[in-house]
Amino acid sequence: ASGYYKVVKENRNLYNMVQDLKGNIRVYCRIRPSFTAEAKTVIDFIGEDGSLVILDPLKPHKDGRKVFQFNRMFGPTATQDVVFKDIQPLIRSVVDGYNVCIFAYGQTGSGKTHTMSGPSGGSTKDRGINFLALNYLFQMSDRRKDIINYDIHVQMVEIYNEQVRDLLAEDSSTTKLEIRSCTSDNGLSLPDATICSVKSTTDVLNLMKLGEVNRVVSSTAMNNRSSRSHSVLTVHVHGKDTSGGILRSSLHLVDLAGSERVDKSEVTGDRLKEAQYINKSLSCLGDVIMALAQKNTHIPYRNSKLTLLLQDSLGGHAKTLMFAHVSPEEDSFGETVTTLKFAQRVSTVELGAARLNKESSEVMQLKEQIESLKKALANKE
Ligand code: ADP
Ligand code: MG
Repeated sequence: ASGYYKVVKENRNLYNMVQDLKGNIRVYCRIRPSFTAEAKTVIDFIGEDGSLVILDPLKPHKDGRKVFQFNRMFGPTATQDVVFKDIQPLIRSVVDGYNVCIFAYGQTGSGKTHTMSGPSGGSTKDRGINFLALNYLFQMSDRRKDIINYDIHVQMVEIYNEQVRDLLAEDSSTTKLEIRSCTSDNGLSLPDATICSVKSTTDVLNLMKLGEVNRVVSSTAMNNRSSRSHSVLTVHVHGKDTSGGILRSSLHLVDLAGSERVDKSEVTGDRLKEAQYINKSLSCLGDVIMALAQKNTHIPYRNSKLTLLLQDSLGGHAKTLMFAHVSPEEDSFGETVTTLKFAQRVSTVELGAARLNKESSEVMQLKEQIESLKKALANKE
């Protein structure tokens, strides 16, 4: 059997390389550990090749088996480091000039925040992708300092009830931000959000703490740590090489609100409004992904703040990775199937090939010449 898995694994690597060239949205699946040892699990099989088999607790026989296939599978014992090691090449491509977007999807309590931020309370153990990615960007920038000079800035916002709030502002409750959809001029898609220069992991930790405090967290029947908003940490990388060439890229790190269907009979008032808004943003994400998968000419990015903000990453020339998070317990079976089906659909989306955002020094010099000629012309007239 081990021989068989080895072959499958090698084929998978090849498959992933082809996916890379095609520019598909990559989909990784992560299953969190059970909270209690005696809890019954729906996980039947996890393959090194990225496959997953789950078993319907009501049909504990052949008919109840559902098979899924992803680019990678991380089981309950996978550590943060193992997960990060896998995405390290993706983070490296940010300093090479690619736009990258990583988002965490799944029902409340399935491990999204664990993957992106790590455990709350500033524990130094089990740090998540947000911290590890920035740490790695600093390392890369240091390693290349003789040939290229990098500046790293971060913005952190939350989308809550279809409003974008600045999580790094002094008074985050009053600022409501507009999203600019056209970023082709290298402008920022959130021009009014606080943007902070970061030079070390200490800077990053301080900002993350501030962001965490500002984030709206309210309780649901399911999990009082649940978060009903989407949080987006954007890292802007700007590089200037010794010959004057400019490189610009961005990395979006997104922790989505819980994907569970909210039983509207159980919630009223503000909570109901909240549920409808959250569902709106996530269902728009689904619509956009469907439209991309079907290669429609019209992609409905404008229908929600989330899709508008991620427009360049979802349909553009970015490298996009989705983490589909699932809980292993039997009582989550329904949501687990919904999440896995959604994730499977996402993995069929083809993006354009990822594009490098780098202007050669020749182009820069020509631009400068054009500018000085324009000035000379203006002076003559
Ligand atoms: P979500 O953000 O999807 O609502 P959380 O990340 O808050 O879920 O996870 C719910 C709980 O499970 C938290 O207490 C978290 O620390 C724990 N948890 C999630 N994933 C893992 C994991 N891979 N290993 C250990 N604990 C985890
Ligand atoms: Mg969370």
